[in-house]
Amino acid sequence: MKVSLEYLYHYICDHCQKWWTIADIKPDIGSHALCPHCGKTSLIEEIVQFQIKT
Ligand SMILES: [Zn+2]
Repeated sequence: MKVSLEYLYHYICDHCQKWWTIADIKPDIGSHALCPHCGKTSLIEEIVQFQIKT
């Protein structure tokens, strides 16, 4: 069988603090993301990684 890996990018809005998720599309540092909750944009400053090495 094949096993596939999916990356989930979790965004937290700077304005309303609500979050949303986009799979597999890596955001560019320095670009802006549009919040689906309040409609405002936030600057993407870094991508924090939590991957556990096994
Ligand atoms: Zn928002």
